[in-house]
Amino acid sequence: MQEFRYTRVATTADALKAVMAQKDSAFIAGGTTLVDLMKLNVERPGHLVDINPLPLASIEATQSGGLRIGAMAANSAVAFHSEVKSRYPVLSEALLSGASGQLRNMATVGGNLMQRTRCQYFRDTSWACNKRSPGSGCSALDGYHRSHAVFGVSDACIATHPSDMCVALAALEATLELESGKGQRRVPIADFYLLPKGTPHRETLLEPGELITAVELPALPSQTRSAYLKLRDRASYEFALVSVAAVLTMDGGTIRRARIAFGGVGAKPWRSIDVEQALSGVRPDATAFAKAAAIATEGAVGRRDNRFKIELLRRAVVRILSELAI
Ligand code: SF4
Repeated sequence: MQEFRYTRVATTADALKAVMAQKDSAFIAGGTTLVDLMKLNVERPGHLVDINPLPLASIEATQSGGLRIGAMAANSAVAFHSEVKSRYPVLSEALLSGASGQLRNMATVGGNLMQRTRCQYFRDTSWACNKRSPGSGCSALDGYHRSHAVFGVSDACIATHPSDMCVALAALEATLELESGKGQRRVPIADFYLLPKGTPHRETLLEPGELITAVELPALPSQTRSAYLKLRDRASYEFALVSVAAVLTMDGGTIRRARIAFGGVGAKPWRSIDVEQALSGVRPDATAFAKAAAIATEGAVGRRDNRFKIELLRRAVVRILSELAI
């Protein structure tokens, strides 16, 4: 592990200033990802800017009826917040399906958004990895890739985005609030993550020194229900092989509006507009669910070890719709 400088800041302005003072700076909050990767020599910041004292942990109603979640809110605080549990259960369920109780107490919303892939070759510096070392190659392509992605991949990288929370945020059409020395901006989560293409080391559209300050959830129509289904190798403390976040607005016996996103299968949280359109205005029955499941896997690229995810995703789509819509 290399030596690094450490600066603890009390305000957002000080954080933005400190992070720009040295080129190889990084923000640290809960540290549940970054410290691991520093120990593995995968991340080697020369300057850590500790943002834990920043007043960005509040969870409050917005004027438009939504919910604004500060980026420093702990994952457990969000999961157990009464408004999240009652109005956005998909988010609560997604958060509680990830990591462990101790990690959820430490990990922040901002840190969860910035999670790095769990690709074993990325985390082991003895292997070639375009994401860790651009241009070096991708060891997963010819290696063991059971956990890897089937959507949004490229010849340069087939890594899976690891977050559960972000899959729920994608289905909820969350907006991220970002701040830098240039000012503030708002970015829909659908635009925040970049596909690997030829530059897998570029994972988000965050600019150097830019900080995530909050996540805003929109108000949902009445008669909306939501849920998160996560399928994995063991019942806890495990990443998704396949997950589905579903947000359905019902109108009598019909699905009026659907928002669907998948985890464990994409280079980023994978929202499926085609499935949403196929479900809108239909009566929820086995035929509709089977059609949605077939559409869900169109365009999937399965490889030797991860091809099973395609059928698993179809079954997960049918299961969550059967539980949520009927
Ligand atoms: Fe690296 Fe991506 Fe290949 Fe994994 S899949 S080895 S993260 S380039």
